[in-house]
Amino acid sequence: METSATEILGLNIQELTDLIGQLGEPAYRAQQLFHAIYRQRISSLDELTTFPKSLRAAMTEQGITLSAPKIDKKFISTDGTIRYLIAFPDGQSVETVWMPEGDGGEAGDGTDAGDEEAGGPGEVGAPSVAQPQVGSQNKNVAQQQVGNEKRKTWSRATICVSSQVGCAVNCKFCMTALLGLKRNLTAGEIVGQIAAILNDHNVDLEKERINIVFMGQGEPFNNYDAFIKAVRLLVDGVGFPQSRMTVSTSGIVPRIYDLGQEPVRPKLAISLNASNDEERTKLIPINKKWDIASLVDAARAFPLRNRERLTFEYVLLDNENDSPDNAREVVQIIRALGDKADSAKVNLIAWNSGPEIPFSTPSDSRVHAFQKILMDAGVPAFIRRPRGRDIYAACGQLKRTESVTRSLL
Ligand code: SAH
Ligand code: SF4
Repeated sequence: METSATEILGLNIQELTDLIGQLGEPAYRAQQLFHAIYRQRISSLDELTTFPKSLRAAMTEQGITLSAPKIDKKFISTDGTIRYLIAFPDGQSVETVWMPEGDGGEAGDGTDAGDEEAGGPGEVGAPSVAQPQVGSQNKNVAQQQVGNEKRKTWSRATICVSSQVGCAVNCKFCMTALLGLKRNLTAGEIVGQIAAILNDHNVDLEKERINIVFMGQGEPFNNYDAFIKAVRLLVDGVGFPQSRMTVSTSGIVPRIYDLGQEPVRPKLAISLNASNDEERTKLIPINKKWDIASLVDAARAFPLRNRERLTFEYVLLDNENDSPDNAREVVQIIRALGDKADSAKVNLIAWNSGPEIPFSTPSDSRVHAFQKILMDAGVPAFIRRPRGRDIYAACGQLKRTESVTRSLL
């Protein structure tokens, strides 16, 4: 047994089995440990009550730790969205966002992240600003729960998780870009953010419908191994169905092909954000390396599950990428998907402002005009309702903005 510290949050069943073997303990202990870390979501070794105290003490002696990330601060929006500042032991922190009522907001696919099975109320029908669905109060309502649980006012929710501290992609409209890349998160830190938020809301995943979107700080595909390991732990350990998860990428093309080969994976959203290469290269510098044609090729090759949709996100910047011509170019891009065009949809996000960023938010009429061109051409287009803008929790606003809001912790 090595004397160096071993962090167990983030280890998979194989790695835990090896560890338990090194401690000279029987293999069933690895199963118990896996269950406690991920399904029970314990936050320290002290809570590992299925293990005898002597074994816990031996683990501590061997330098084995369970360091769940801590909720450092919490900002609550008037719309119920909560922005969490989650701190790691090395002093770095990221933001994780809780969006109650199941609307993924402009973050993308929250509303329909689970709709593959449900038939997709978010998928059918006319263009509309996403709203909590009528009748949703009757589904999975947690309000009547009694006992020692806090009163719950949501019926479903979406968690937006970060994959890196900061981001290196440097999109010109995004506040996270201003941080630069501080470091990658480990799989344990990705899962730990989600566990901390589930615990903060006493979530019972067997009863309550929670979606995960990898749309917080960072480019998940620039931290692919940790991201995909976290996905597997969320599915096998924590108990999320893969159909309730969506990952968004700025367009790291080789990783789109890799994701398509994964036996267990989230749904895919691609941040298009521009309708031609000149504009896209200006807004998202990596477009020089992976242009729109290469994105379209990757999307065409991406194997979709039964009834799965492929999402394209498009941030609308006033008088920059939001003209009728831009909309018509987007239609051409979707048509270039060939067979896949029928499975594609576009999520329109009116730009969320941030200090130091030289763009502005288009008017509602420009946003609706853009949407109408897509819809009239047969391309499903949804306007994402911004969530938590007042507390800088909305898309592209995650940058540890503390001065603008009062923390509750
Ligand atoms: N890095 C990944 C995932 C996180 S960003 C990506 O870029 O896809 C999630 C979404 O928010 C992306 O579609 C991104 O284009 C969008 N976004 C970034 N900044 C924004 C802003 N200021 N307003 C609205 N959407 C923004
Ligand atoms: Fe990074 Fe996404 Fe922001 Fe671009 S939009 S800088 S990829 S977090």
